[in-house]
Amino acid sequence: MSETTPEITIPAELLPADGRFGSGPSKVRPEAVAALAEIADDYLGTSHRQPTVKNVVGRLREGMSDFFGLPDDWEIVLGNGGTTMFWDCATFGLIRNRSQHLSFGEFSGKFASAVSSAPFLADPMVIESELGTKPEAVTTDGIDLYALTHNETTTGVSMEIKRPAGSDGLVAVDATSAAGGLRWDPAEVDCYYFAPQKAFASDGGLYIAACSPAAQDRIKELASGYRWCPPALNLKTALDNSTKNQTYNTPALATIHMAVSQVEWFNQNGGIDFAAGRSEESAQTIYSWADASALATPFVTKAEDRSNVVATIDFDDSISADVLSKVLRANGILDTEGYRKLGRNQVRIALFPAIDPSDIEALTKCIDFVLAELA
Ligand SMILES: *Cc1c(COP(=O)(O)O)cnc(C)c1O
Repeated sequence: MSETTPEITIPAELLPADGRFGSGPSKVRPEAVAALAEIADDYLGTSHRQPTVKNVVGRLREGMSDFFGLPDDWEIVLGNGGTTMFWDCATFGLIRNRSQHLSFGEFSGKFASAVSSAPFLADPMVIESELGTKPEAVTTDGIDLYALTHNETTTGVSMEIKRPAGSDGLVAVDATSAAGGLRWDPAEVDCYYFAPQKAFASDGGLYIAACSPAAQDRIKELASGYRWCPPALNLKTALDNSTKNQTYNTPALATIHMAVSQVEWFNQNGGIDFAAGRSEESAQTIYSWADASALATPFVTKAEDRSNVVATIDFDDSISADVLSKVLRANGILDTEGYRKLGRNQVRIALFPAIDPSDIEALTKCIDFVLAELA
Protein backbone atom coordinates (compact mmCIF):
# COMPACT_ATOMS: atom_id res chain seq x y z
CA MET A 1 0.00 0.00 0.00
CA SER A 2 1.63 3.24 -1.01
CA GLU A 3 0.16 6.48 0.17
CA THR A 4 1.38 9.84 -1.02
CA THR A 5 2.40 12.21 1.72
CA PRO A 6 0.17 15.29 1.75
CA GLU A 7 2.05 18.58 1.71
CA ILE A 8 1.41 20.07 5.11
CA THR A 9 3.65 22.73 6.59
CA ILE A 10 3.61 22.96 10.36
CA PRO A 11 3.92 26.62 11.47
CA ALA A 12 7.45 27.30 12.71
CA GLU A 13 6.23 28.58 16.08
CA LEU A 14 4.72 25.17 16.87
CA LEU A 15 7.86 23.16 16.08
CA PRO A 16 10.01 21.62 18.84
CA ALA A 17 13.51 23.04 19.33
CA ASP A 18 14.95 19.59 18.51
CA GLY A 19 13.13 17.20 16.19
CA ARG A 20 14.62 13.89 17.38
CA PHE A 21 12.06 11.61 19.04
CA GLY A 22 13.45 8.20 18.05
CA SER A 23 13.58 5.37 20.57
CA GLY A 24 17.12 4.38 19.67
CA PRO A 25 19.49 5.58 18.51
CA SER A 26 18.03 8.62 20.14
CA LYS A 27 18.75 12.31 20.58
CA VAL A 28 22.34 13.09 21.53
CA ARG A 29 22.58 16.41 23.37
CA PRO A 30 24.50 19.01 21.32
CA GLU A 31 26.50 19.79 24.47
CA ALA A 32 27.83 16.21 24.51
CA VAL A 33 28.88 16.45 20.86
CA ALA A 34 30.56 19.82 21.54
CA ALA A 35 32.39 18.43 24.57
CA LEU A 36 33.72 15.60 22.42
CA ALA A 37 34.82 18.01 19.69
CA GLU A 38 36.55 20.14 22.29
CA ILE A 39 38.82 17.38 23.56
CA ALA A 40 39.05 15.52 20.23
CA ASP A 41 42.68 16.35 19.49
CA ASP A 42 43.93 14.86 22.75
CA TYR A 43 41.46 11.98 22.98
CA LEU A 44 40.11 10.60 19.68
CA GLY A 45 42.75 8.59 17.87
CA THR A 46 44.81 7.99 21.01
CA SER A 47 45.67 4.74 22.75
CA HIS A 48 43.03 3.18 24.96
CA ARG A 49 45.85 1.81 27.14
CA GLN A 50 47.03 5.30 28.14
CA PRO A 51 45.77 7.45 31.03
CA THR A 52 43.81 9.93 28.88
CA VAL A 53 41.34 7.28 27.74
CA LYS A 54 41.50 5.20 30.92
CA ASN A 55 40.51 8.29 32.92
CA VAL A 56 37.41 8.72 30.77
CA VAL A 57 36.50 5.05 31.25
CA GLY A 58 37.01 5.62 34.98
CA ARG A 59 34.69 8.63 34.89
CA LEU A 60 32.07 6.50 33.14
CA ARG A 61 32.29 3.77 35.80
CA GLU A 62 32.25 6.24 38.67
CA GLY A 63 29.51 8.37 37.16
CA MET A 64 27.28 5.33 36.66
CA SER A 65 27.90 4.02 40.20
CA ASP A 66 27.02 7.42 41.70
CA PHE A 67 24.00 7.85 39.47
CA PHE A 68 22.51 4.44 40.32
CA GLY A 69 23.53 4.71 43.99
CA LEU A 70 25.36 1.37 43.84
CA PRO A 71 26.91 -0.21 46.94
CA ASP A 72 30.75 -0.15 46.94
CA ASP A 73 31.06 -3.85 46.16
CA TRP A 74 29.26 -3.58 42.81
CA GLU A 75 31.27 -3.20 39.58
CA ILE A 76 30.47 -1.46 36.33
CA VAL A 77 31.60 -3.81 33.55
CA LEU A 78 31.86 -2.62 29.97
CA GLY A 79 32.65 -4.15 26.62
CA ASN A 80 32.01 -3.93 22.92
CA GLY A 81 28.95 -5.04 21.03
CA GLY A 82 25.96 -3.45 22.71
CA THR A 83 23.12 -5.25 24.42
CA THR A 84 22.69 -7.93 21.77
CA MET A 85 26.29 -9.00 22.32
CA PHE A 86 25.77 -8.90 26.08
CA TRP A 87 23.00 -11.51 25.70
CA ASP A 88 25.61 -13.86 24.22
CA CYS A 89 28.04 -12.96 27.01
CA ALA A 90 25.33 -13.78 29.56
CA THR A 91 24.47 -17.05 27.80
CA PHE A 92 28.06 -18.18 28.34
CA GLY A 93 28.95 -16.34 31.50
CA LEU A 94 25.90 -15.67 33.71
CA ILE A 95 23.43 -18.54 33.22
CA ARG A 96 24.57 -21.69 35.01
CA ASN A 97 21.95 -24.10 33.69
CA ARG A 98 18.44 -22.73 33.28
CA SER A 99 17.00 -19.24 32.96
CA GLN A 100 13.50 -17.83 33.11
CA HIS A 101 12.54 -15.07 30.66
CA LEU A 102 9.65 -12.67 30.73
CA SER A 103 8.85 -12.21 27.05
CA PHE A 104 6.55 -9.33 26.09
CA GLY A 105 8.02 -7.84 22.94
CA GLU A 106 10.76 -8.08 20.38
CA PHE A 107 13.75 -7.44 22.65
CA SER A 108 12.76 -9.60 25.62
CA GLY A 109 11.90 -12.38 23.17
CA LYS A 110 15.27 -12.11 21.44
CA PHE A 111 17.28 -12.89 24.59
CA ALA A 112 15.07 -15.92 25.25
CA SER A 113 15.66 -17.27 21.75
CA ALA A 114 19.43 -16.63 21.95
CA VAL A 115 19.52 -18.73 25.12
CA SER A 116 17.30 -21.51 23.79
CA SER A 117 19.81 -22.44 21.09
CA ALA A 118 22.75 -22.85 23.53
CA PRO A 119 23.60 -26.58 23.60
CA PHE A 120 25.11 -26.42 27.11
CA LEU A 121 21.99 -24.95 28.79
CA ALA A 122 18.64 -26.48 29.66
CA ASP A 123 15.69 -25.14 27.67
CA PRO A 124 14.79 -21.79 29.16
CA MET A 125 11.43 -21.21 30.81
CA VAL A 126 9.70 -18.47 28.84
CA ILE A 127 6.67 -16.66 30.25
CA GLU A 128 4.90 -14.60 27.65
CA SER A 129 2.13 -12.05 27.75
CA GLU A 130 0.12 -10.29 25.10
CA LEU A 131 1.84 -7.31 23.47
CA GLY A 132 1.00 -4.16 25.40
CA THR A 133 0.97 -6.01 28.73
CA LYS A 134 3.66 -7.54 30.94
CA PRO A 135 4.08 -11.03 32.47
CA GLU A 136 5.03 -11.82 36.08
CA ALA A 137 8.07 -13.82 37.12
CA VAL A 138 7.30 -17.14 38.83
CA THR A 139 9.73 -18.37 41.46
CA THR A 140 10.73 -21.84 40.22
CA ASP A 141 13.11 -24.54 41.45
CA GLY A 142 16.17 -24.93 39.24
CA ILE A 143 16.05 -21.43 37.75
CA ASP A 144 19.44 -19.79 38.33
CA LEU A 145 18.80 -16.56 36.42
CA TYR A 146 15.64 -14.50 35.97
CA ALA A 147 15.81 -12.38 32.81
CA LEU A 148 13.65 -9.28 33.17
CA THR A 149 13.29 -6.24 30.93
CA HIS A 150 12.81 -2.89 32.63
CA ASN A 151 11.29 -1.28 29.59
CA GLU A 152 10.15 -3.17 26.48
CA THR A 153 11.08 -0.57 23.89
CA THR A 154 8.98 -2.12 21.13
CA THR A 155 5.65 -1.88 22.99
CA GLY A 156 6.13 0.94 25.51
CA VAL A 157 5.52 -1.27 28.54
CA SER A 158 7.70 -0.91 31.63
CA MET A 159 7.76 -2.90 34.85
CA GLU A 160 8.81 -2.33 38.41
CA ILE A 161 11.87 -4.48 39.05
CA LYS A 162 11.38 -6.94 41.94
CA ARG A 163 13.35 -10.01 42.92
CA PRO A 164 11.01 -13.03 42.59
CA ALA A 165 9.96 -13.86 46.15
CA GLY A 166 12.03 -16.55 47.84
CA SER A 167 14.26 -17.23 44.82
CA ASP A 168 18.03 -17.51 44.97
CA GLY A 169 18.56 -17.06 41.22
CA LEU A 170 20.32 -14.02 39.83
CA VAL A 171 18.11 -11.19 38.60
CA ALA A 172 19.42 -9.85 35.28
CA VAL A 173 17.66 -6.84 33.82
CA ASP A 174 17.80 -5.61 30.24
CA ALA A 175 17.66 -1.88 30.91
CA THR A 176 18.72 -0.69 27.49
CA SER A 177 15.99 1.89 27.08
CA ALA A 178 15.27 2.25 30.83
CA ALA A 179 18.67 2.96 32.36
CA GLY A 180 18.82 6.68 33.07
CA GLY A 181 15.09 7.30 32.76
CA LEU A 182 13.50 4.82 35.19
CA ARG A 183 14.19 4.17 38.87
CA TRP A 184 15.30 0.83 40.32
CA ASP A 185 16.61 -0.55 43.59
CA PRO A 186 19.98 -2.39 43.54
CA ALA A 187 18.68 -4.66 46.33
CA GLU A 188 16.27 -6.20 43.78
CA VAL A 189 18.84 -6.77 41.02
CA ASP A 190 22.15 -8.55 40.34
CA CYS A 191 22.95 -7.39 36.83
CA TYR A 192 21.51 -4.22 35.29
CA TYR A 193 22.78 -3.99 31.72
CA PHE A 194 22.25 -1.63 28.83
CA ALA A 195 23.75 0.09 25.81
CA PRO A 196 24.13 3.88 25.90
CA GLN A 197 22.31 4.95 22.71
CA LYS A 198 18.95 5.39 24.43
CA ALA A 199 18.39 7.20 27.74
CA PHE A 200 22.16 7.73 28.03
CA ALA A 201 22.01 9.78 24.83
CA SER A 202 25.24 8.45 23.36
CA ASP A 203 25.95 6.19 20.40
CA GLY A 204 25.77 2.41 19.96
CA GLY A 205 28.37 -0.31 20.14
CA LEU A 206 29.02 -0.60 23.87
CA TYR A 207 27.46 -2.64 26.66
CA ILE A 208 27.53 -1.44 30.25
CA ALA A 209 26.58 -3.85 33.03
CA ALA A 210 26.25 -2.99 36.72
CA CYS A 211 27.08 -6.23 38.55
CA SER A 212 26.35 -7.14 42.18
CA PRO A 213 28.78 -9.31 44.19
CA ALA A 214 26.53 -12.33 43.43
CA ALA A 215 26.74 -11.62 39.70
CA GLN A 216 30.53 -11.26 39.94
CA ASP A 217 30.72 -14.60 41.80
CA ARG A 218 28.68 -16.27 39.06
CA ILE A 219 30.93 -14.77 36.38
CA LYS A 220 34.01 -16.15 38.18
CA GLU A 221 32.40 -19.55 38.74
CA LEU A 222 31.44 -20.02 35.08
CA ALA A 223 34.84 -18.78 33.87
CA SER A 224 36.69 -21.28 36.04
CA GLY A 225 37.18 -23.61 33.13
CA TYR A 226 34.40 -26.17 32.89
CA ARG A 227 32.61 -24.43 30.02
CA TRP A 228 34.35 -23.19 26.90
CA CYS A 229 33.67 -19.53 26.12
CA PRO A 230 34.71 -17.46 23.09
CA PRO A 231 37.34 -15.06 24.47
CA ALA A 232 35.57 -11.92 23.25
CA LEU A 233 32.37 -12.96 25.09
CA ASN A 234 34.14 -13.84 28.33
CA LEU A 235 32.62 -11.75 31.13
CA LYS A 236 35.48 -12.55 33.51
CA THR A 237 37.88 -10.98 31.01
CA ALA A 238 35.55 -7.98 30.73
CA LEU A 239 35.29 -7.72 34.53
CA ASP A 240 39.08 -7.89 34.98
CA ASN A 241 39.66 -5.24 32.31
CA SER A 242 36.90 -2.97 33.60
CA THR A 243 38.35 -2.83 37.10
CA LYS A 244 41.50 -1.45 35.41
CA ASN A 245 39.39 1.08 33.45
CA GLN A 246 40.07 -0.77 30.22
CA THR A 247 38.24 -2.94 27.74
CA TYR A 248 39.41 -6.27 26.29
CA ASN A 249 39.69 -4.82 22.80
CA THR A 250 39.51 -1.33 21.34
CA PRO A 251 36.34 0.41 22.46
CA ALA A 252 34.31 3.12 20.71
CA LEU A 253 35.95 6.17 22.30
CA ALA A 254 33.34 8.66 21.08
CA THR A 255 30.52 6.53 22.50
CA ILE A 256 32.24 6.36 25.88
CA HIS A 257 32.84 10.11 26.00
CA MET A 258 29.28 11.07 25.11
CA ALA A 259 27.95 8.63 27.73
CA VAL A 260 30.22 10.29 30.29
CA SER A 261 28.85 13.70 29.31
CA GLN A 262 25.31 12.45 29.84
CA VAL A 263 25.85 10.74 33.19
CA GLU A 264 27.81 13.72 34.52
CA TRP A 265 25.05 16.05 33.31
CA PHE A 266 22.57 13.91 35.24
CA ASN A 267 24.73 13.85 38.37
CA GLN A 268 25.40 17.60 38.33
CA ASN A 269 21.68 18.36 38.10
CA GLY A 270 20.35 16.09 40.83
CA GLY A 271 20.95 12.52 39.64
CA ILE A 272 18.13 10.06 39.14
CA ASP A 273 15.47 12.46 40.45
CA PHE A 274 16.43 14.94 37.75
CA ALA A 275 16.75 12.39 34.94
CA ALA A 276 13.73 10.23 35.76
CA GLY A 277 11.83 13.41 36.64
CA ARG A 278 12.22 14.74 33.09
CA SER A 279 10.90 11.48 31.66
CA GLU A 280 8.01 11.52 34.15
CA GLU A 281 7.08 15.03 33.10
CA SER A 282 7.18 14.11 29.41
CA ALA A 283 5.11 10.97 30.05
CA GLN A 284 2.52 12.98 31.94
CA THR A 285 2.29 15.37 28.98
CA ILE A 286 1.95 12.78 26.24
CA TYR A 287 -0.46 10.39 27.98
CA SER A 288 -2.77 13.11 29.22
CA TRP A 289 -2.78 14.61 25.73
CA ALA A 290 -3.65 11.19 24.23
CA ASP A 291 -6.33 10.54 26.87
CA ALA A 292 -7.96 13.87 26.02
CA SER A 293 -7.67 13.47 22.24
CA ALA A 294 -10.64 12.18 20.23
CA LEU A 295 -8.30 10.46 17.76
CA ALA A 296 -5.35 9.25 19.88
CA THR A 297 -5.32 6.56 22.61
CA PRO A 298 -2.39 5.14 24.61
CA PHE A 299 -1.75 1.60 23.26
CA VAL A 300 -0.96 0.27 26.75
CA THR A 301 -4.33 0.05 28.46
CA LYS A 302 -3.18 -0.35 32.06
CA ALA A 303 -1.94 3.07 33.16
CA GLU A 304 0.65 1.57 35.56
CA ASP A 305 2.26 -0.39 32.70
CA ARG A 306 2.73 2.71 30.53
CA SER A 307 6.36 3.56 30.11
CA ASN A 308 7.87 6.90 31.11
CA VAL A 309 10.62 6.48 28.53
CA VAL A 310 8.83 5.25 25.38
CA ALA A 311 5.20 6.12 24.59
CA THR A 312 3.14 4.13 22.08
CA ILE A 313 0.05 5.94 20.87
CA ASP A 314 -2.66 4.37 18.69
CA PHE A 315 -4.78 6.37 16.28
CA ASP A 316 -8.37 6.07 15.17
CA ASP A 317 -8.85 4.26 11.84
CA SER A 318 -9.86 7.53 10.18
CA ILE A 319 -6.20 8.63 10.47
CA SER A 320 -3.14 6.86 9.06
CA ALA A 321 -0.35 6.96 11.64
CA ASP A 322 2.10 6.24 8.79
CA VAL A 323 0.99 9.33 6.92
CA LEU A 324 1.13 11.35 10.15
CA SER A 325 4.73 10.22 10.77
CA LYS A 326 5.66 11.02 7.17
CA VAL A 327 4.23 14.54 7.44
CA LEU A 328 6.09 15.04 10.72
CA ARG A 329 9.30 13.79 9.12
CA ALA A 330 8.90 16.19 6.19
CA ASN A 331 8.72 18.94 8.83
CA GLY A 332 11.92 17.83 10.57
CA ILE A 333 10.23 15.79 13.33
CA LEU A 334 12.00 12.45 13.08
CA ASP A 335 11.49 8.80 13.98
CA THR A 336 7.94 8.85 15.36
CA GLU A 337 7.10 5.73 13.30
CA GLY A 338 5.59 2.85 15.26
CA TYR A 339 7.53 -0.38 15.69
CA ARG A 340 6.94 -2.13 12.37
CA LYS A 341 6.47 -5.66 13.69
CA LEU A 342 3.71 -4.56 16.08
CA GLY A 343 1.68 -3.79 12.96
CA ARG A 344 -0.52 -1.17 14.59
CA ASN A 345 -1.84 2.22 13.50
CA GLN A 346 0.57 3.80 15.93
CA VAL A 347 3.31 6.32 16.62
CA ARG A 348 6.13 5.64 19.08
CA ILE A 349 7.76 8.56 20.86
CA ALA A 350 10.85 8.49 23.04
CA LEU A 351 10.60 10.36 26.33
CA PHE A 352 14.26 9.98 27.30
CA PRO A 353 15.75 12.52 29.72
CA ALA A 354 17.79 14.21 26.95
CA ILE A 355 14.55 15.17 25.22
CA ASP A 356 13.28 18.43 26.64
CA PRO A 357 9.81 17.99 28.19
CA SER A 358 8.80 21.24 26.48
CA ASP A 359 9.61 19.59 23.14
CA ILE A 360 7.17 16.76 23.97
CA GLU A 361 4.55 19.44 24.64
CA ALA A 362 5.41 21.05 21.29
CA LEU A 363 5.17 17.68 19.55
CA THR A 364 1.60 17.17 20.77
CA LYS A 365 0.69 20.58 19.33
CA CYS A 366 2.30 19.66 16.01
CA ILE A 367 0.39 16.36 15.90
CA ASP A 368 -2.88 18.19 16.65
CA PHE A 369 -2.12 20.61 13.84
CA VAL A 370 -1.46 17.80 11.34
CA LEU A 371 -4.55 15.85 12.47
CA ALA A 372 -6.70 18.93 11.85
CA GLU A 373 -5.18 19.34 8.38
CA LEU A 374 -5.68 15.67 7.54
CA ALA A 375 -9.33 15.69 8.65
C1 LIG B 1 17.65 -1.27 21.82
C2 LIG B 1 17.42 -2.42 22.72
C3 LIG B 1 18.22 -3.58 22.63
C4 LIG B 1 19.27 -3.76 21.57
O1 LIG B 1 20.37 -2.96 21.83
P1 LIG B 1 21.67 -3.07 20.88
O2 LIG B 1 22.67 -2.20 21.56
O3 LIG B 1 21.24 -2.57 19.53
O4 LIG B 1 22.06 -4.49 20.83
C5 LIG B 1 17.96 -4.58 23.53
N1 LIG B 1 17.01 -4.48 24.48
C6 LIG B 1 16.24 -3.38 24.60
C7 LIG B 1 15.21 -3.30 25.68
C8 LIG B 1 16.42 -2.32 23.72
O5 LIG B 1 15.66 -1.22 23.83
